[in-house]
Amino acid sequence: MSRKPLIAGNWKMNLNHLEAIATVQKLAFALNDKDFDRAEVAVLPPYTDLRSVQTLVDGDKLRIVYGAQDLSQHDGGAYTGEISGAMLAKLGCTFVTIGHSERRQYHGEDDPVVNAKVLAAYRHSLTPILCVGEGLPVRQAGGQVAYSVSQLDGALNKVTAEQASSIVLAYEPVWAIGTGEVATPDDAQEVCGALRARLAELYDGEVAAAVRILYGGSVKSDNISGIMAQPDVDGALVGGASLDPGEFAKICRFSE
Ligand code: PEP
Repeated sequence: MSRKPLIAGNWKMNLNHLEAIATVQKLAFALNDKDFDRAEVAVLPPYTDLRSVQTLVDGDKLRIVYGAQDLSQHDGGAYTGEISGAMLAKLGCTFVTIGHSERRQYHGEDDPVVNAKVLAAYRHSLTPILCVGEGLPVRQAGGQVAYSVSQLDGALNKVTAEQASSIVLAYEPVWAIGTGEVATPDDAQEVCGALRARLAELYDGEVAAAVRILYGGSVKSDNISGIMAQPDVDGALVGGASLDPGEFAKICRFSE
């Protein structure tokens, strides 16, 4: 089965809504139809930018898709400060990142919370970009596969095969995020391949073959091609480099 690559830009807590408009405009200008035929291109702005991005994308019929960086596990009610899946769906979001290591580290999100958020995303027809990945001590002890697979297991509790076949996974080793230290293509393949094999065990080969698995962690235009050449890597989740539209566009053209 051929999987269309996905290049997704995680803006984190950067760019106000005016900067967001300028960034998406520049990105749209830098990409052409051939680029969009080759890869799906997504941006994941802060919540406060989503309406502006929606207006621009819809108004100019851009082929860029967008999503949020998190959502509430609840669907509505007395949860001050939270944003529901229904709100994101209403704003035209396609994707929502769940379980990013910065959420796990700074907001105490554990596997049951991540699982609840995955289920919440499906309730509102959002596609989760589920992030997993080990920290440095686990990597140094050689436990990266077991650790990432166990995060996958924890996130997929009560997720049906039909739902799972549309999920996007992102293998993001914590030691590579924002550090400039990118995983080698072989390192990325090792864990991405193991995640796909686990999907085949949890569901079946068809689900495993359908799911897109991204690599994330210090991706730049000069290191993306080797990673994308790996059989189980179907794209990239890009943090810092996605804030520069010219650089992000080059990443989206990874094979050139
Ligand atoms: C990320 O935030 O998901 C990420 C991969 O960041 P960076 O590309 O900056 O390492």
